[in-house]
Amino acid sequence: MRQKIVAGNWKMNNTLDEGLKLTSEIVNMVNDEVNTDVRVILAPPFVHLTQVRGLVKDSEKISLSAQNCNENDEGAFTGEISAEMLASVGVQYVILGHSERREYFDETNEQLAKKIDIALANNLKPIFCCGESLEVRENGLFKEFVSNQISDSLFHLGEEDLKKVVIAYEPIWAIGTGKTASTEQAQEMHAVIRELLAERYGADVAENISILYGGSCKPSNAPELFACKDVDGGLIGGASLKSRDFLDIIKSF
Ligand code: PEP
Repeated sequence: MRQKIVAGNWKMNNTLDEGLKLTSEIVNMVNDEVNTDVRVILAPPFVHLTQVRGLVKDSEKISLSAQNCNENDEGAFTGEISAEMLASVGVQYVILGHSERREYFDETNEQLAKKIDIALANNLKPIFCCGESLEVRENGLFKEFVSNQISDSLFHLGEEDLKKVVIAYEPIWAIGTGKTASTEQAQEMHAVIRELLAERYGADVAENISILYGGSCKPSNAPELFACKDVDGGLIGGASLKSRDFLDIIKSF
């Protein structure tokens, strides 16, 4: 059985007070309302992590993620955060390769391969994001594009390390735009990704990797997306900032 996951990426939103209020609401609602085996992951900004951890640490269902880490061990990288630092404050996951990081911070597939390695070396589970722009979708090369993102950043890993990675397919044209991929589009790409993993690591490994969908996922479309055979949950941006919407998405399996 693949792990079902709903992860909330808060991006650069919320003051500390707002973030802690949101966390408390989510913790209470998850305790009261969620009786499935879904793993809930919260990815607040770095400066919230320690205090958010204080609120979620007793929850069996909720884990903590960072939104990024640096690819180096330590040193003179002003303003950066290392994987070791994240692990030292109790973080369990790290989102890597989000399209906003690729676009605004020029992160490359090669750099992301290094981030994946340093995350795994510090016992953080990477949530590796991939996905094509509208231009690439429209020119028809999206399967090749996403396959290259995955093979360039992940295929140097051995089987045991690959098994720790969560993949998030996030078509850029659907992120924050209100335009969701159809269930057919989502299922098609998730199946392509799983097949690619099967070719490299074998069907058993591929069958057990969680592949999340991201891009304008909300309570109204989550049930049909999560019902797709190869969609194992969602990476949620905007709707993760409202506790009720986030909970309704979690309950959509
Ligand atoms: C995201 O940024 O990962 C995302 C999926 O955002 P949204 O849900 O707002 O489209």
